[in-house]
Amino acid sequence: MSDTNAAAEQTWYTEGDISLRYRWPMGEAERAFFGALRDRGVLTGARCNRCNRTMVPPRSFCEECFERDIEYVEVAATGTVVTFAESYFSLDGKRLEEPFYVGIIHLDGTDGGLFHRLRPGARPLEIGTPVRAVFSDDRNGTILDISHFEPVA
Ligand SMILES: [Zn+2]
Repeated sequence: MSDTNAAAEQTWYTEGDISLRYRWPMGEAERAFFGALRDRGVLTGARCNRCNRTMVPPRSFCEECFERDIEYVEVAATGTVVTFAESYFSLDGKRLEEPFYVGIIHLDGTDGGLFHRLRPGARPLEIGTPVRAVFSDDRNGTILDISHFEPVA
């Protein structure tokens, strides 16, 4: 028996489900982002009027220069894949026939990006692949109002 197997046999596990209801009070920046996403199907950033950074997700102040003079602006729904992961297991641990993908997308013209689902579509995913947001038809003011990002044809 290898040391790895011996260590695994000595590890005790417990399994279970945790159901957690919560209510999270949104701040000004989150309201700007999720309100525009739900009502207009657009992405919002916060532009710092001091150093001209455009933060996505938006913040109520600039994290670089601490300026509070920021402006909420519509940003591009296109960007590039910074990094991604492929999984053949669902969130509840079941084996999948087709993989799903999640990754970080740097949005064009901004200094930030979003972590979200990716779908390869007609083009395989790679780091640097240009992608666009696909919005859900039924939007409720959550991050899932963005269905996923997919490669630009
Ligand atoms: Zn700034």
